[in-house]
Amino acid sequence: MIKDVSRRAPEEVKIPEDLLPADGRFGSGPSKVRRDAVANLADLDRYMGTSHRQAPVKHMVARLKASLVDLFDLPDGYEVVLGVGGATMLWDALAFSFIDGRAQHLVFGEFTSKFSQAVMLAPHLPDPDVIESEPGTHPLFAPDSAIDVYATAHNETSTGVCMQIARPVPNGLMVVDGTSAAAGMLVDPDQFDVYYFSPQKGFASDGGLWIALCSPAAIERIEKLGSSDRYVPPSLGLQIALDNSRKDQTYNTPALATLALIVDQAEWFLSNGGLQWSTARCAESAQTLYDWASGSSFAQPFVGAKEDRSPVVGTIDFVDRVDGKSLAAALRANGIVDTEPYRKLGRNQLRIAMYPAIDPDDVERLTRCIDFVVEVLFGDP
Ligand SMILES: *Cc1c(COP(=O)(O)O)cnc(C)c1O
Repeated sequence: MIKDVSRRAPEEVKIPEDLLPADGRFGSGPSKVRRDAVANLADLDRYMGTSHRQAPVKHMVARLKASLVDLFDLPDGYEVVLGVGGATMLWDALAFSFIDGRAQHLVFGEFTSKFSQAVMLAPHLPDPDVIESEPGTHPLFAPDSAIDVYATAHNETSTGVCMQIARPVPNGLMVVDGTSAAAGMLVDPDQFDVYYFSPQKGFASDGGLWIALCSPAAIERIEKLGSSDRYVPPSLGLQIALDNSRKDQTYNTPALATLALIVDQAEWFLSNGGLQWSTARCAESAQTLYDWASGSSFAQPFVGAKEDRSPVVGTIDFVDRVDGKSLAAALRANGIVDTEPYRKLGRNQLRIAMYPAIDPDDVERLTRCIDFVVEVLFGDP
């Protein structure tokens, strides 16, 4: 193979200052945390480093619960439950203290797959019914009266595919992974029993917690299994998490900065107009990104069906002559970070987060930076 020595190394590409976004963080998680929110942490010295069993931290948990009830417009009887460990830990908790019979899982990427595997491994549960589709698409539920729990994700962060959340049938509990969708996509509380997320994506906080919005039917299920004789490790016990959440606490020590940052972000949404505002911001960014890619001679949206294209995580494929790895490396050298695709997807692609914290104007600037880098690295010599 002849090496073209005139081509520059990606790290040597210098994007002009006036093209650069104001903030170069486009990672899908951990994702951009607002500078103001981080600055506010510095003023919390009567909170940071204090006991999670005392008023200041309990007050923060209460603010979190209240702001989520408000943001998601949760009907009476819905409760916010939280615990330590992130969405991944909640999968195990759901397997131990929520799923009672056979679960049906829609699998269309890494995260939906991992939840189905966690349930598959649980020795006390029947094997789940797994419905899978090709990367870049999503499957549909196959309603069945024998199914106890229906599980899916509102947005598959690994592939950039989203789906509408609607109960397949009136019976069966609906459990939705909203980790990357929460705050970036609207959801109707009537359509879920559990809508859960980690704080480091749409809520622009740090990792380490899981938060679950639970319907009355979900609470009933937690209480039913909580008083059964099934073995449940206490740290995965949703009854224990529920009891603690009702007292504005967590079972074990939470990450206090994470809590404060998610409250900051939730209240930022509320002060700007709530989820109508935050989701409109994502929709604007997404339109910019997908319009640019669709009109480009070297890029195109990975997800074919327009309605399945995520408004929060955009996956963009490139033609062969444009090497996504070099492109991401050049962007990184210029302070535009974490645009690399999901590693296991193995495509010549960039993955770009468009969570509410990310300024739509910065997404526009990013597209111009990509154009610039492609011209320098892969343009006709
Ligand atoms: C990031 C992510 C998770 C995992 O979150 P953790 O906090 O790392 O456990 C689960 N589901 C989806 C859809 C995600 O995007």
